[in-house]
Amino acid sequence: MSHRLVVVGAGYAGLLAAKRLASKLRRSDVTITLVNASDRFVERVRLHQVAAGQRSAAPSLRQQLGGASVQLVVGHVTAIDTTGRTVSLETAPQVIGYDTLVYAVGSRARLDNNPGAIEHAYAVADLEQATRLRRRIAEIASGGTVAVVGAGLTGLEIASELAESHPELCVRLFTGADDVGTGLAPRARTHLRRALDRLGVSVHPKTHVAMVRQNGLDTRDGASFAADAVVWTTGFQAPELAREAGLATDEGGRVLVDATLRSISHPEVYAVGDAAAGVSVGGAPSRMSCQAALPMGRGVADVIAARLTGREPGPVRIGYAFTNISLGRRDGVVQFTHADDRPRGLVLTGRAAAAFKEAVVRSTVRSGPRGDLSAQSPDL
Ligand SMILES: Cc1cc2nc3c(=O)[nH]c(=O)nc-3n(C[C@H](O)[C@H](O)[C@H](O)COP(=O)(O)OP(=O)(O)OC[C@H]3O[C@@H](n4cnc5c(N)ncnc54)[C@H](O)[C@@H]3O)c2cc1C
Repeated sequence: MSHRLVVVGAGYAGLLAAKRLASKLRRSDVTITLVNASDRFVERVRLHQVAAGQRSAAPSLRQQLGGASVQLVVGHVTAIDTTGRTVSLETAPQVIGYDTLVYAVGSRARLDNNPGAIEHAYAVADLEQATRLRRRIAEIASGGTVAVVGAGLTGLEIASELAESHPELCVRLFTGADDVGTGLAPRARTHLRRALDRLGVSVHPKTHVAMVRQNGLDTRDGASFAADAVVWTTGFQAPELAREAGLATDEGGRVLVDATLRSISHPEVYAVGDAAAGVSVGGAPSRMSCQAALPMGRGVADVIAARLTGREPGPVRIGYAFTNISLGRRDGVVQFTHADDRPRGLVLTGRAAAAFKEAVVRSTVRSGPRGDLSAQSPDL
Protein backbone atom coordinates (compact mmCIF):
# COMPACT_ATOMS: atom_id res chain seq x y z
CA MET A 1 0.00 0.00 0.00
CA SER A 2 1.32 3.46 -0.83
CA HIS A 3 2.19 5.92 1.91
CA ARG A 4 -0.73 8.29 2.67
CA LEU A 5 0.41 11.90 2.92
CA VAL A 6 -2.28 14.33 4.01
CA VAL A 7 -1.77 18.10 4.03
CA VAL A 8 -4.39 20.09 5.93
CA GLY A 9 -4.60 23.69 4.75
CA ALA A 10 -3.85 25.00 1.26
CA GLY A 11 -2.44 28.41 2.06
CA TYR A 12 1.06 29.51 1.14
CA ALA A 13 2.81 26.76 3.12
CA GLY A 14 0.41 23.84 2.56
CA LEU A 15 -0.09 24.36 -1.16
CA LEU A 16 3.63 24.64 -1.80
CA ALA A 17 4.33 21.58 0.37
CA ALA A 18 1.77 19.46 -1.49
CA LYS A 19 3.03 20.48 -4.92
CA ARG A 20 6.65 19.99 -4.05
CA LEU A 21 5.97 16.60 -2.48
CA ALA A 22 4.21 15.58 -5.69
CA SER A 23 7.21 16.67 -7.73
CA LYS A 24 9.69 14.81 -5.50
CA LEU A 25 7.97 11.48 -4.87
CA ARG A 26 6.84 8.73 -7.21
CA ARG A 27 3.09 8.50 -7.77
CA SER A 28 3.24 4.74 -7.16
CA ASP A 29 4.82 5.20 -3.72
CA VAL A 30 2.56 7.87 -2.18
CA THR A 31 -0.91 9.34 -2.32
CA ILE A 32 -0.99 13.05 -1.57
CA THR A 33 -4.26 14.55 -0.35
CA LEU A 34 -4.64 18.27 0.19
CA VAL A 35 -7.60 19.24 2.36
CA ASN A 36 -8.74 22.85 2.40
CA ALA A 37 -11.77 24.63 3.78
CA SER A 38 -12.55 26.17 0.38
CA ASP A 39 -11.76 25.49 -3.26
CA ARG A 40 -9.91 28.80 -3.47
CA PHE A 41 -6.34 29.76 -2.73
CA VAL A 42 -6.80 32.84 -0.59
CA GLU A 43 -4.04 35.38 -1.16
CA ARG A 44 -4.11 36.69 2.36
CA VAL A 45 -1.44 39.26 1.57
CA ARG A 46 -3.97 41.02 -0.67
CA LEU A 47 -6.87 41.06 1.77
CA HIS A 48 -6.39 44.74 2.60
CA GLN A 49 -6.93 45.39 -1.11
CA VAL A 50 -10.13 43.33 -1.02
CA ALA A 51 -11.37 45.34 1.97
CA ALA A 52 -10.62 48.58 0.14
CA GLY A 53 -12.82 47.37 -2.73
CA GLN A 54 -10.11 46.69 -5.28
CA ARG A 55 -9.86 43.10 -6.33
CA SER A 56 -10.62 39.51 -5.59
CA ALA A 57 -7.76 37.59 -3.99
CA ALA A 58 -8.86 34.01 -4.36
CA PRO A 59 -7.80 32.13 -7.49
CA SER A 60 -8.97 28.55 -7.98
CA LEU A 61 -6.99 25.97 -6.02
CA ARG A 62 -7.36 23.41 -8.80
CA GLN A 63 -5.78 25.88 -11.17
CA GLN A 64 -2.98 26.49 -8.67
CA LEU A 65 -2.34 22.76 -8.44
CA GLY A 66 -1.90 22.59 -12.21
CA GLY A 67 -1.02 19.05 -13.24
CA ALA A 68 0.41 18.06 -9.84
CA SER A 69 -0.70 14.63 -8.73
CA VAL A 70 -2.43 15.84 -5.62
CA GLN A 71 -5.97 14.94 -4.68
CA LEU A 72 -7.84 18.05 -3.51
CA VAL A 73 -10.55 17.56 -0.91
CA VAL A 74 -12.63 20.64 -0.13
CA GLY A 75 -13.85 20.48 3.44
CA HIS A 76 -13.28 21.78 6.93
CA VAL A 77 -11.25 19.52 9.20
CA THR A 78 -12.94 19.40 12.60
CA ALA A 79 -10.68 16.96 14.45
CA ILE A 80 -7.42 15.05 14.24
CA ASP A 81 -7.22 11.59 15.80
CA THR A 82 -3.53 11.03 16.38
CA THR A 83 -4.07 7.46 17.63
CA GLY A 84 -6.17 6.24 14.70
CA ARG A 85 -4.23 8.60 12.38
CA THR A 86 -7.26 10.16 10.77
CA VAL A 87 -8.67 13.63 10.19
CA SER A 88 -12.43 14.21 10.40
CA LEU A 89 -14.32 16.52 8.10
CA GLU A 90 -17.75 18.10 8.33
CA THR A 91 -18.61 16.81 4.86
CA ALA A 92 -17.87 13.72 2.74
CA PRO A 93 -15.53 11.86 2.80
CA GLN A 94 -15.81 12.66 6.55
CA VAL A 95 -12.73 10.67 7.52
CA ILE A 96 -9.33 10.57 5.82
CA GLY A 97 -6.54 8.31 7.06
CA TYR A 98 -2.91 9.37 7.02
CA ASP A 99 0.54 7.94 7.56
CA THR A 100 2.13 11.39 7.54
CA LEU A 101 0.22 14.59 8.27
CA VAL A 102 1.30 18.13 7.38
CA TYR A 103 -0.53 20.65 9.54
CA ALA A 104 -0.75 23.93 7.59
CA VAL A 105 -3.94 25.58 8.83
CA GLY A 106 -2.54 29.11 9.08
CA SER A 107 -3.96 31.63 11.51
CA ARG A 108 -6.90 33.92 12.12
CA ALA A 109 -7.52 37.31 13.66
CA ARG A 110 -7.06 37.55 17.40
CA LEU A 111 -10.16 39.41 18.56
CA ASP A 112 -10.67 37.96 22.02
CA ASN A 113 -8.02 40.07 23.73
CA ASN A 114 -10.09 43.23 23.95
CA PRO A 115 -13.61 43.89 25.21
CA GLY A 116 -16.08 44.55 22.42
CA ALA A 117 -13.75 43.50 19.58
CA ILE A 118 -15.52 40.20 18.84
CA GLU A 119 -18.92 41.89 18.80
CA HIS A 120 -18.13 45.15 17.03
CA ALA A 121 -14.77 45.12 15.28
CA TYR A 122 -13.95 44.20 11.70
CA ALA A 123 -10.84 42.26 10.67
CA VAL A 124 -8.90 41.41 7.50
CA ALA A 125 -7.34 38.06 8.38
CA ASP A 126 -9.56 35.98 6.10
CA LEU A 127 -11.57 36.49 2.93
CA GLU A 128 -14.95 36.57 4.68
CA GLN A 129 -13.78 39.24 7.10
CA ALA A 130 -12.20 41.34 4.35
CA THR A 131 -15.40 41.09 2.28
CA ARG A 132 -17.54 42.05 5.27
CA LEU A 133 -15.34 45.10 5.86
CA ARG A 134 -15.55 46.06 2.19
CA ARG A 135 -19.36 46.00 2.42
CA ARG A 136 -19.28 48.14 5.54
CA ILE A 137 -16.89 50.66 3.97
CA ALA A 138 -19.23 50.98 0.99
CA GLU A 139 -22.08 51.93 3.35
CA ILE A 140 -20.19 54.68 5.18
CA ALA A 141 -21.14 58.16 4.05
CA SER A 142 -18.52 60.66 2.92
CA GLY A 143 -16.84 62.25 5.93
CA GLY A 144 -17.26 59.07 8.01
CA THR A 145 -14.43 57.59 10.07
CA VAL A 146 -12.61 54.26 10.04
CA ALA A 147 -10.45 53.49 13.07
CA VAL A 148 -7.66 50.95 12.55
CA VAL A 149 -6.30 49.46 15.77
CA GLY A 150 -2.72 48.16 15.62
CA ALA A 151 0.13 49.55 13.53
CA GLY A 152 1.91 46.32 12.68
CA LEU A 153 2.30 45.45 9.03
CA THR A 154 -1.39 44.59 8.58
CA GLY A 155 -2.56 47.75 10.34
CA LEU A 156 -0.27 49.96 8.26
CA GLU A 157 -1.34 48.32 5.02
CA ILE A 158 -5.07 48.44 5.64
CA ALA A 159 -4.98 52.04 6.93
CA SER A 160 -3.03 53.25 3.86
CA GLU A 161 -5.08 51.23 1.41
CA LEU A 162 -8.37 52.53 2.79
CA ALA A 163 -7.10 56.10 2.87
CA GLU A 164 -5.94 55.92 -0.75
CA SER A 165 -9.02 54.15 -2.12
CA HIS A 166 -11.50 56.14 -0.02
CA PRO A 167 -10.20 59.69 0.30
CA GLU A 168 -13.73 60.70 1.31
CA LEU A 169 -13.24 58.87 4.63
CA CYS A 170 -11.21 59.89 7.65
CA VAL A 171 -8.80 57.08 8.65
CA ARG A 172 -7.34 56.97 12.16
CA LEU A 173 -4.55 54.60 13.17
CA PHE A 174 -4.18 53.67 16.85
CA THR A 175 -1.03 52.13 18.28
CA GLY A 176 0.23 51.53 21.79
CA ALA A 177 3.80 52.03 20.50
CA ASP A 178 5.62 55.37 20.59
CA ASP A 179 5.63 55.63 16.82
CA VAL A 180 4.88 53.71 13.62
CA GLY A 181 7.47 51.41 12.10
CA THR A 182 9.57 51.16 15.24
CA GLY A 183 11.36 48.03 13.98
CA LEU A 184 12.48 49.73 10.75
CA ALA A 185 15.63 51.70 9.88
CA PRO A 186 15.31 55.50 10.31
CA ARG A 187 14.90 56.21 6.58
CA ALA A 188 12.09 53.65 6.27
CA ARG A 189 10.37 55.08 9.34
CA THR A 190 10.60 58.62 8.03
CA HIS A 191 9.12 57.55 4.70
CA LEU A 192 6.33 55.68 6.45
CA ARG A 193 5.35 58.73 8.50
CA ARG A 194 5.40 60.99 5.44
CA ALA A 195 3.31 58.55 3.42
CA LEU A 196 0.68 58.27 6.15
CA ASP A 197 0.61 62.09 6.35
CA ARG A 198 0.23 62.41 2.60
CA LEU A 199 -2.64 59.91 2.64
CA GLY A 200 -4.31 61.84 5.46
CA VAL A 201 -4.11 59.00 8.02
CA SER A 202 -4.19 60.43 11.58
CA VAL A 203 -1.79 58.44 13.73
CA HIS A 204 -2.50 58.10 17.46
CA PRO A 205 0.71 56.78 19.06
CA LYS A 206 0.95 55.62 22.70
CA THR A 207 -2.79 55.02 22.65
CA HIS A 208 -4.07 51.73 24.02
CA VAL A 209 -7.62 50.87 23.04
CA ALA A 210 -9.59 49.59 26.02
CA MET A 211 -12.96 48.86 24.46
CA VAL A 212 -14.62 48.71 21.05
CA ARG A 213 -18.17 49.99 20.86
CA GLN A 214 -20.74 49.75 18.09
CA ASN A 215 -20.00 53.32 17.08
CA GLY A 216 -16.39 53.82 18.09
CA LEU A 217 -13.82 53.03 20.73
CA ASP A 218 -12.60 54.05 24.17
CA THR A 219 -8.93 54.34 25.05
CA ARG A 220 -7.27 53.28 28.29
CA ASP A 221 -6.64 56.89 29.24
CA GLY A 222 -10.35 57.67 29.11
CA ALA A 223 -10.75 59.24 25.66
CA SER A 224 -13.51 58.19 23.25
CA PHE A 225 -13.42 58.30 19.45
CA ALA A 226 -16.44 57.92 17.19
CA ALA A 227 -15.97 55.57 14.23
CA ASP A 228 -18.24 54.03 11.62
CA ALA A 229 -16.00 50.96 11.55
CA VAL A 230 -13.24 49.76 13.86
CA VAL A 231 -10.70 47.44 12.19
CA TRP A 232 -8.83 45.21 14.63
CA THR A 233 -5.33 44.17 13.51
CA THR A 234 -3.38 43.57 16.72
CA GLY A 235 -2.44 39.97 16.08
CA PHE A 236 -3.14 36.55 14.66
CA GLN A 237 -3.64 33.26 16.46
CA ALA A 238 -3.57 29.64 15.34
CA PRO A 239 -6.71 27.46 15.29
CA GLU A 240 -7.34 25.15 18.28
CA LEU A 241 -7.33 21.94 16.23
CA ALA A 242 -3.79 20.82 17.17
CA ARG A 243 -4.16 21.52 20.86
CA GLU A 244 -7.50 19.68 20.92
CA ALA A 245 -5.81 16.71 19.24
CA GLY A 246 -3.23 16.52 22.03
CA LEU A 247 -0.25 17.69 20.00
CA ALA A 248 2.38 19.67 21.88
CA THR A 249 1.68 23.34 21.19
CA ASP A 250 2.79 26.71 22.46
CA GLU A 251 0.36 28.88 24.45
CA GLY A 252 -1.03 30.25 21.16
CA GLY A 253 -2.00 26.79 19.85
CA ARG A 254 0.86 26.57 17.35
CA VAL A 255 2.44 23.13 16.97
CA LEU A 256 5.90 22.88 18.52
CA VAL A 257 8.30 21.44 15.97
CA ASP A 258 11.96 20.46 15.78
CA ALA A 259 14.49 21.73 13.24
CA THR A 260 12.96 19.48 10.58
CA LEU A 261 9.45 20.90 11.19
CA ARG A 262 8.37 17.63 12.82
CA SER A 263 6.06 17.75 15.85
CA ILE A 264 8.03 17.22 19.04
CA SER A 265 5.22 15.05 20.44
CA HIS A 266 3.97 13.17 17.35
CA PRO A 267 6.70 12.24 14.83
CA GLU A 268 4.22 11.40 12.07
CA VAL A 269 2.96 15.00 12.13
CA TYR A 270 4.74 18.04 10.66
CA ALA A 271 3.64 21.66 10.99
CA VAL A 272 4.37 24.65 8.78
CA GLY A 273 3.52 28.32 8.32
CA ASP A 274 1.60 30.36 10.87
CA ALA A 275 0.52 27.14 12.65
CA ALA A 276 4.08 26.08 13.54
CA ALA A 277 6.14 27.26 16.51
CA GLY A 278 9.73 26.79 17.55
CA VAL A 279 11.10 27.38 14.07
CA SER A 280 14.31 29.36 13.92
CA VAL A 281 14.54 31.91 11.14
CA GLY A 282 18.10 33.12 10.88
CA GLY A 283 18.43 32.37 14.60
CA ALA A 284 15.30 34.29 15.63
CA PRO A 285 11.84 32.78 16.28
CA SER A 286 9.69 32.76 13.15
CA ARG A 287 6.97 35.38 12.88
CA MET A 288 3.68 34.69 11.16
CA SER A 289 4.46 35.70 7.58
CA CYS A 290 4.70 34.37 4.06
CA GLN A 291 8.41 34.96 4.35
CA ALA A 292 8.51 32.11 6.83
CA ALA A 293 5.54 30.07 5.51
CA LEU A 294 6.85 29.56 1.97
CA PRO A 295 10.29 28.22 2.90
CA MET A 296 8.64 26.04 5.54
CA GLY A 297 6.34 24.59 2.87
CA ARG A 298 9.31 23.92 0.67
CA GLY A 299 11.44 22.61 3.53
CA VAL A 300 8.85 20.21 4.89
CA ALA A 301 8.45 18.62 1.46
CA ASP A 302 12.20 18.09 1.23
CA VAL A 303 12.35 16.61 4.73
CA ILE A 304 9.44 14.22 4.19
CA ALA A 305 10.68 13.17 0.76
CA ALA A 306 14.11 12.46 2.25
CA ARG A 307 12.73 10.35 5.10
CA LEU A 308 10.42 8.41 2.79
CA THR A 309 13.36 7.56 0.56
CA GLY A 310 15.60 6.40 3.38
CA ARG A 311 17.72 9.51 3.95
CA GLU A 312 17.99 11.53 7.15
CA PRO A 313 17.46 15.23 6.34
CA GLY A 314 19.34 18.13 7.88
CA PRO A 315 17.58 21.05 9.56
CA VAL A 316 15.36 23.30 7.46
CA ARG A 317 17.24 26.57 7.02
CA ILE A 318 15.21 29.74 6.68
CA GLY A 319 16.31 33.36 6.67
CA TYR A 320 14.50 36.65 6.21
CA ALA A 321 15.60 38.97 3.42
CA PHE A 322 13.25 41.96 3.63
CA THR A 323 10.03 43.32 5.08
CA ASN A 324 7.61 44.56 2.51
CA ILE A 325 4.95 47.14 3.34
CA SER A 326 2.51 48.46 0.77
CA LEU A 327 1.24 52.00 1.36
CA GLY A 328 -1.58 52.05 -1.14
CA ARG A 329 -0.96 51.05 -4.75
CA ARG A 330 1.68 53.64 -5.62
CA ASP A 331 3.87 53.71 -2.55
CA GLY A 332 5.57 51.35 -0.17
CA VAL A 333 8.59 50.56 1.94
CA VAL A 334 10.91 47.62 1.46
CA GLN A 335 13.19 47.24 4.45
CA PHE A 336 16.02 44.85 3.64
CA THR A 337 16.96 42.76 6.65
CA HIS A 338 19.52 40.41 8.05
CA ALA A 339 18.51 36.74 8.10
CA ASP A 340 17.21 37.13 11.67
CA ASP A 341 14.91 40.02 10.61
CA ARG A 342 17.04 42.85 12.01
CA PRO A 343 16.87 45.84 9.63
CA ARG A 344 19.84 46.71 7.46
CA GLY A 345 20.55 50.25 6.22
CA LEU A 346 19.19 49.37 2.77
CA VAL A 347 15.66 50.63 2.13
CA LEU A 348 13.51 51.01 -0.98
CA THR A 349 10.63 53.49 -0.95
CA GLY A 350 7.93 55.00 -3.17
CA ARG A 351 6.85 53.59 -6.53
CA ALA A 352 9.88 51.31 -6.77
CA ALA A 353 8.89 49.69 -3.46
CA ALA A 354 5.26 49.33 -4.59
CA ALA A 355 6.38 47.66 -7.83
CA PHE A 356 8.79 45.40 -5.95
CA LYS A 357 6.05 44.24 -3.60
CA GLU A 358 3.57 43.66 -6.42
CA ALA A 359 6.14 41.53 -8.28
CA VAL A 360 6.80 39.46 -5.16
CA VAL A 361 3.09 38.98 -4.40
CA ARG A 362 2.44 37.89 -7.99
CA SER A 363 5.28 35.41 -7.91
CA THR A 364 3.75 33.58 -4.95
CA VAL A 365 0.72 32.46 -6.96
CA ARG A 366 2.45 31.61 -10.21
CA SER A 367 2.63 27.88 -10.84
CA GLY A 368 5.94 26.52 -12.01
CA PRO A 369 6.28 23.80 -14.64
CA ARG A 370 6.64 21.06 -12.04
CA GLY A 371 4.09 22.60 -9.74
CA ASP A 372 6.85 24.07 -7.63
CA LEU A 373 6.42 27.70 -6.65
CA SER A 374 9.85 27.86 -5.13
CA ALA A 375 11.63 27.91 -8.46
CA GLN A 376 10.66 31.51 -9.06
CA SER A 377 9.28 32.91 -5.87
CA PRO A 378 11.43 35.24 -3.82
CA ASP A 379 9.54 34.82 -0.56
CA LEU A 380 7.64 37.81 0.72
C1 LIG B 1 -3.93 41.72 5.12
C2 LIG B 1 -2.71 40.85 5.31
C3 LIG B 1 -1.51 41.24 4.72
C4 LIG B 1 -0.38 40.45 4.87
N1 LIG B 1 0.78 40.84 4.28
C5 LIG B 1 1.89 40.09 4.40
C6 LIG B 1 3.11 40.46 3.76
O1 LIG B 1 3.17 41.49 3.08
N2 LIG B 1 4.18 39.65 3.89
C7 LIG B 1 4.14 38.51 4.63
O2 LIG B 1 5.15 37.79 4.70
N3 LIG B 1 3.00 38.11 5.26
C8 LIG B 1 1.88 38.87 5.17
N4 LIG B 1 0.71 38.48 5.79
C9 LIG B 1 0.71 37.25 6.61
C10 LIG B 1 0.54 36.03 5.70
O3 LIG B 1 -0.61 36.16 4.93
C11 LIG B 1 0.44 34.75 6.54
O4 LIG B 1 1.56 34.67 7.39
C12 LIG B 1 0.40 33.53 5.62
O5 LIG B 1 -0.82 33.51 4.91
C13 LIG B 1 0.58 32.23 6.39
O6 LIG B 1 0.54 31.16 5.48
P1 LIG B 1 0.01 29.73 5.90
O7 LIG B 1 0.20 28.85 4.74
O8 LIG B 1 0.61 29.35 7.20
O9 LIG B 1 -1.53 29.92 6.21
P2 LIG B 1 -2.74 30.53 5.36
O10 LIG B 1 -2.26 31.29 4.19
O11 LIG B 1 -3.58 31.22 6.36
O12 LIG B 1 -3.50 29.24 4.85
C14 LIG B 1 -4.14 28.34 5.72
C15 LIG B 1 -5.15 27.54 4.93
O13 LIG B 1 -5.69 26.53 5.78
C16 LIG B 1 -7.09 26.46 5.61
N5 LIG B 1 -7.66 25.92 6.83
C17 LIG B 1 -7.60 26.46 8.08
N6 LIG B 1 -8.22 25.66 8.96
C18 LIG B 1 -8.67 24.60 8.26
C19 LIG B 1 -9.39 23.43 8.61
N7 LIG B 1 -9.74 23.18 9.87
N8 LIG B 1 -9.72 22.56 7.63
C20 LIG B 1 -9.35 22.78 6.34
N9 LIG B 1 -8.66 23.88 5.96
C21 LIG B 1 -8.32 24.76 6.91
C22 LIG B 1 -7.50 27.91 5.33
O14 LIG B 1 -8.75 27.95 4.68
C23 LIG B 1 -6.34 28.36 4.45
O15 LIG B 1 -6.59 28.07 3.09
C24 LIG B 1 -0.45 39.25 5.64
C25 LIG B 1 -1.66 38.86 6.22
C26 LIG B 1 -2.78 39.64 6.06
C27 LIG B 1 -4.08 39.19 6.68
